[in-house]
Amino acid sequence: MIRLTLRQPQVFRHTRQPNMSLSTLHQSPIPILNSISSYREWRKKAFDGKKSLGFVPTMGALHDGHLSLVRRSLSENDLTVVSIFVNPAQFAPHEDLNTYPRTLPRDLKQLTGQQITVAGDVRTPSAVFLPSVHDMYPSGISQDVASQKGTFVEVKGYSHQMEGASRPNFFRGVATVVTKLFNVVQPTNAYFGQKDIQQALLLRKMCRDLLFPYPDADHVHIVPTERDPVDSLALSSRNLYLSFEERSIADILYKALHAAETAWVAGEPKNQCISTAKALVMEATETATTRGITVRLDYIQMNDSDTFEVLDGQLQRQSAGGAPVILSGAVWVGKTRLIDNIVIDDLGSIIR
Ligand code: AMP
Repeated sequence: MIRLTLRQPQVFRHTRQPNMSLSTLHQSPIPILNSISSYREWRKKAFDGKKSLGFVPTMGALHDGHLSLVRRSLSENDLTVVSIFVNPAQFAPHEDLNTYPRTLPRDLKQLTGQQITVAGDVRTPSAVFLPSVHDMYPSGISQDVASQKGTFVEVKGYSHQMEGASRPNFFRGVATVVTKLFNVVQPTNAYFGQKDIQQALLLRKMCRDLLFPYPDADHVHIVPTERDPVDSLALSSRNLYLSFEERSIADILYKALHAAETAWVAGEPKNQCISTAKALVMEATETATTRGITVRLDYIQMNDSDTFEVLDGQLQRQSAGGAPVILSGAVWVGKTRLIDNIVIDDLGSIIR
């Protein structure tokens, strides 16, 4: 399962995967599968006679948000596989691919600590899948979409709103890598976080449109966002970028979203709800500036959770028909881009 020589492909500009060393790999009690062939060999043996395989795709730098997905998978499946792969195709050339936190030894330690008992069956993560960039992109991968070659997956009509408006090729990269991961891992159930709500809903649509058997769209699950217990900041691998000072005001986005939610529930029209939220961010921006911190709002918006289209500015809750609404936003705190969202009304119809 573990190769003794780790390949260093030369042909790809971005090949740096989590800080892998042989001792790290050997010390892990969880099987580590660092090639597609080793994963397939493992699955053939491990899945034999088992009923379900849960899958949690990640980019590593694991925190309690990721681990909540792992625990959910453990509770619902005989086997649980976690992948760690920093996917070049979802980073624009100016984004943070090269500095994205890579903390493999710590990730493995955290995964090893996950254990739950279901009807007397003690379950721990069954395997960690750590593919190389070469394995995942046999035709090579450039972050510049114009010069990419090979096969890519686009979920049209659902990739240009919210996060897609700020990160135009992001969902193309995500849909492509998740398709590849699903083709290899072949999970019964897959688990994604509400933290990236558009991503999770879009992947559910992708599984439905492309008639995926593993997993079936109904088996793409969304797990609520894990937050810091003190200030409710959504946990994120990118929070590691924040300085102590920046961290102290990073909860501004959630506060602003919460204010917009309160206004919506009180019957205010959508535009008013957004203005209320933006005013809070502006206030925080001014205070932050006096402390030498730059805060910049990227967007705050309210979108239909099915079509992803922006809600009409005059729409009020009583006319929205009780369908779930995605209230989401992104804010820059220093050089760190933070995202968050709240799903208002009928959360249960999409978070399952
Ligand atoms: P990432 O490693 O950032 O690609 O995230 C891997 C998975 O973990 C995605 O499905 C994320 O939505 C999910 N995730 C990230 N942060 C959280 C969080 N705070 N709560 C729940 N899920 C999360």
